[in-house]
Amino acid sequence: MSEPPANNFKMVDVHDVRDINQTIFLHLIRERQPISRADIAKFTGLRAGTVSAIVNRLIKNNFVYEGTEGPSSGGRPPKHLYINAESFYVLAIDIGVSDTVFAVSDFNGRIIQQKSLLTEGAPEQFLEKLADEIEKIVSTQYSRAKFGAVGVSVPGLIDRETGTVETSPNLEWKNVPLRRILMNRLHLPIYIENDANAAAFSELWYGPLSEANVRTLLFVLVVEGLGTGLIINGELHVGSRLGLGGFGHMSIDPNGELCSCGRRGCWETFASERATVERFQRVTAKPGGRAVSLNEVVSLANKNDEMAVESLKITAEYLGEGISNLVHGLYPETVVIGGNITAAWSLIEPIIKKRIHSRYIVAPEKLVIRPASVQRPSLFGAIPIALQNCFQKPLQLSKNPFKTRVKI
Ligand SMILES: [Zn+2]
Repeated sequence: MSEPPANNFKMVDVHDVRDINQTIFLHLIRERQPISRADIAKFTGLRAGTVSAIVNRLIKNNFVYEGTEGPSSGGRPPKHLYINAESFYVLAIDIGVSDTVFAVSDFNGRIIQQKSLLTEGAPEQFLEKLADEIEKIVSTQYSRAKFGAVGVSVPGLIDRETGTVETSPNLEWKNVPLRRILMNRLHLPIYIENDANAAAFSELWYGPLSEANVRTLLFVLVVEGLGTGLIINGELHVGSRLGLGGFGHMSIDPNGELCSCGRRGCWETFASERATVERFQRVTAKPGGRAVSLNEVVSLANKNDEMAVESLKITAEYLGEGISNLVHGLYPETVVIGGNITAAWSLIEPIIKKRIHSRYIVAPEKLVIRPASVQRPSLFGAIPIALQNCFQKPLQLSKNPFKTRVKI
């Protein structure tokens, strides 16, 4: 069997031009601009007509423009495509258990500015405070900019129809009408996604172009909790109404530690940041001593602190164990691990790989296991989630929505 050609995007039919393909095109144009239609066809292996159909739609919607560039070899100078980077901005919000980050991104997916605040207090009050902070920055520094949408990443189960966080064990949120609260304040379309799903999505936009032909990608997000996101055939697998809960709560030991979800021995209780820190503190904490963060454990490990190294090694074993189960079931081409723990990648990588390799029944031909392409992948993933949703219809951009808001 011959290998698929390198850098070959998945085939799409012109009758099946889904939004996801536009995302892939925009990723390619962003990375390779200026790029001609012919080069896109060559790169993707798609027919010229299919390429033109997608490109024309992108031009019509103002996401891409066409210009001439480079020396002409005689005849008509070739036309090249560029991203219309400043056509509008989007906001990305990543709600984390300890802190929440929001960012302003241009259409190139480049973060222009970001700010963090502690995630604290009752959810409704916290979201009002978050909206205050966003409004302050946007109205003072982006008063002339246009905004298209807001992408929000949140750890928990989300009702996609209503934009409600049904439950988030780690945030301890229940039935929080996230979309309604933010829409009332920000006056923009709000698109909400589970944090591990958002993280998986970040790889479609920020991942290596050489992986553009990867059909199945499993993302394991190691944060306070543990979540997984799955890309199948270039699309995010979101399951049914409540979205995909991921594999963080699959049972490893039914008699194990109590999990944030109320059950015992979930994968999360063995391999999350919290599990790692607790493991470290069980053997090192002095009574009354302060809590440490995962980043501190990693930096101690990088200085060869024995207990920190050991805590991370055990986490790596459990990550490898869980991933090996999923690899057998899902057979992905790429497994990506994201979160602060990847700062200790040189320590954890050989352990994770060894554990996965030792568990094969039939070894896959090729399995890439690598750290995430971006830091804080759930934040970066919220950017293409907002952008992608802007592609669905021609943009109705108002001027800065914050300026027209009536202050009461
Ligand atoms: Zn659980």
